[in-house]
Amino acid sequence: MQLAQRLATIKEPQTIRMAKLSREMKAKGINVTDLSLGEPDFITPEHICEAAVKAMNEGYTKYPPVAGMPDLLNAISAKLKRDNNLDYEPKQIIVSTGAKQSLANAVLSLIDPDDEVIIPTPYWVTYSSLVQLAGGVSKFIRCGIENDFKLTPDQLEAAISSKTKLFIFSSPCNPTGSVYTRDELAALAEVFKRYPYVAIISDEIYEYINFAGGHESIAQFTELKDRVIIVNGMSKGFAMTGWRLGYMAGPLDVVQACEKLQAQITSGANSITQRASITALLSDLSPTYKMRDTFKQRRDFVTQSLMEMPGVVTNHPQGAFYAFPHISSFFGKSAGDTKILNDEDLSMYLLNEARVATVCGSAFGEPDCIRISFAAGMEQLEAAMVQMKAALAKLQ
Ligand code: PLP
Repeated sequence: MQLAQRLATIKEPQTIRMAKLSREMKAKGINVTDLSLGEPDFITPEHICEAAVKAMNEGYTKYPPVAGMPDLLNAISAKLKRDNNLDYEPKQIIVSTGAKQSLANAVLSLIDPDDEVIIPTPYWVTYSSLVQLAGGVSKFIRCGIENDFKLTPDQLEAAISSKTKLFIFSSPCNPTGSVYTRDELAALAEVFKRYPYVAIISDEIYEYINFAGGHESIAQFTELKDRVIIVNGMSKGFAMTGWRLGYMAGPLDVVQACEKLQAQITSGANSITQRASITALLSDLSPTYKMRDTFKQRRDFVTQSLMEMPGVVTNHPQGAFYAFPHISSFFGKSAGDTKILNDEDLSMYLLNEARVATVCGSAFGEPDCIRISFAAGMEQLEAAMVQMKAALAKLQ
């Protein structure tokens, strides 16, 4: 078949490729520790599962409204007030099949061919693929480990042009775990105020996995609020990746455009998931905070272990469940017949030699790093860190 051109340059995400490779090795009986995944290793809290069973028994099995069930939109509106002190009417909110679809809806609703989209790197790879699908042009700004991979106001100002339509970022960030403070967001907001034609997608999917304190949203700055699109969802904070529920809160015209698009693509998100999400959002959040505390212990262990590996320079992630260490000191080194020329080689070497699956940093726009997920049990992490250290020590 002659496939459509729009797919020609879209690649399989490296995260999915590594997960596939490690699954193949496991199927051959090789004991691989998979630290490539962006998925909590916890199961969904029981009260949320019970709410889904109840929903089925109560007959919530029909098409829901395209934008989402009114009770769920009300629950999200209440959550945004409770957790973020933000006022959004239910009509400014739309739920979708995962935050990924919320992002897709937003990008496809805003971007015309040749529009520029600024994406600070390292970034979550889906952003640029969506921009590409929309025919837009991604403009990447490299943010180094020396500034905890965060964008400075000067870098932002220098990147904005008359063609800039959109800015996309995540805080807490996948892949770096960096979290913007209120002051850092305020400084970026000062720049955005000078460019009222630039919309902002603030991906807050890791909101609840924050080790630094309270979550800060760029939507809190009143002058920006009517052009900020908040994207969030149930996957990470409630261990609900498979349920597929994401949401967006933003300007009415964007939300309505997304509804129009979604009506033609999915007709709305799964009805049972929507009922369960109401329970998740309105219940006591202690199961979420317990998971966060466990992630924090693992973060401490993984960063300490990485710091003890000669040649590795690590950041200290303040959120999400990834470490993103600098590993470029190994480029040019060898172990036996294996020569490491770049991050991809190192990631493959760690898979084959240490039996640890990671993701190369170039998948996120930063070829000097690799991403290590700590969404795995302590025992697995301990074994993985020992094996990684031994494998890296062999590189001369
Ligand atoms: N945004 C970021 C930064 C992510 O890391 C992910 C998932 O890995 C998503 C969005 C998508 O989440 P969902 O499972 O809700 O589609």
